[in-house]
Amino acid sequence: MIDQSTIDKVIDTAKIEEVVGEEVDLRKRGVNLLGLCPFHNEKTPSFTVSPAKGIFKCFGCGEAGDSIGFVMKFQRINFFDAIRVLAKRYHIEYEEEEESPEAALRRKEREARQVILTWTQGYYNSLLKNLKTSNNHPGFIPFLQKWNITEDMIENYHIGLSISKGDNLYKTLTSKGFKKEIIVSTSLVSEGENEMDDFFRNELIFPIHSIAGRVSGFCSINLNNMDSQEGFKILSDNPSFQSEKEILGLFQAKGDSLKKKCCHIISHPLEMLYLFSNQQQNSVFIPQGTLSNKQIKQITRFTNSITLWSDKSMSSVLECYNRISILIHEGVNVKIVDTQSENLTHYLKDQRTSIIEDHITNSKDWLHFLVETLYPIKESLGMDNTAIFNKIIQIVSIIPDAIVKGVYVTEFSRLVNLPEELIWSELKNIGK
Ligand SMILES: [Zn+2]
Repeated sequence: MIDQSTIDKVIDTAKIEEVVGEEVDLRKRGVNLLGLCPFHNEKTPSFTVSPAKGIFKCFGCGEAGDSIGFVMKFQRINFFDAIRVLAKRYHIEYEEEEESPEAALRRKEREARQVILTWTQGYYNSLLKNLKTSNNHPGFIPFLQKWNITEDMIENYHIGLSISKGDNLYKTLTSKGFKKEIIVSTSLVSEGENEMDDFFRNELIFPIHSIAGRVSGFCSINLNNMDSQEGFKILSDNPSFQSEKEILGLFQAKGDSLKKKCCHIISHPLEMLYLFSNQQQNSVFIPQGTLSNKQIKQITRFTNSITLWSDKSMSSVLECYNRISILIHEGVNVKIVDTQSENLTHYLKDQRTSIIEDHITNSKDWLHFLVETLYPIKESLGMDNTAIFNKIIQIVSIIPDAIVKGVYVTEFSRLVNLPEELIWSELKNIGK
């Protein structure tokens, strides 16, 4: 028996183009790859592989599936044997064990939790979608209009709505036959002193999907606090959710990130919606202060170039600084869209596609951004020129590639009008 976490790891790691590429000679065609179908005889290639979607499809014989499906069909083996083959191929270690009664119980609980998470996504989503027709909760409609939340956004991100009544979700779940203990184990509902409390109340709900599209958690924005950086919460205390790794929007952003060779990271879920409505589906939401190495690895499966977005606020500039430092450490190409707006969420809400495209075209190299934004706010940061210089050189010092580092030293020297030798000697000091 193979446990679910091994299966998840295989699904997350196996790349369709690599798995198929070992058996079929693939040529690039646009964003897809094309080859001769291994499942039927053909002279002109109709077998297509989509790295963005993680699937293959033959337009000749109709065979289709993901990496696991490909191995199953090609080697004529069952699902678990295909997982074993791919785990070996990607050096994923796992233990093979007879499923004990306890393990079987845990697996069933996990599966039941998954059903609840998926069902809850649909439940919240239908509450929001039916707002206009149901006449329930009429107060929400002007609210959606105020924040420019469109049907396209709701559809694309499966956005939902939780109402203020305290145990609405719980009652609905139990009426569907889900057991109390399993419902509570998802953390969507908690046990209060006398009653059950829904975790989300009066909130706009965003399901978080794994790369394969499975619902793993939820993020929400409080309807009374929509534009605040503290107004959202994430359902993280849930065994299906890996908070270090999961990213809101990556499931929807992966195809566009691959196509445009870039992914935007923003710090508010609404900003992601506004970029989406301006033809930038390659954007993901990561709350301030939480960018992790594992999240970066998830994004760089699709592109090694990441663009950050900033407004004039100090918190936004400092968050960019921190993110640049983490991203440079991971060898990512980083650019910044410096909108110079007062509040990025409000600014993006009313923007036209052409303006957004101009911003992206004019995005700045991270070093230019830091020099241009940090020196002018040095007093508010309680710092002097030397302290800002040291702050920037910290990032230059972690550039992994020696040649790239040299280029940045030259550019930094030009921007701050100091000799390169001085910068190199400061870098040596940091290394000590
Ligand atoms: Zn075929």
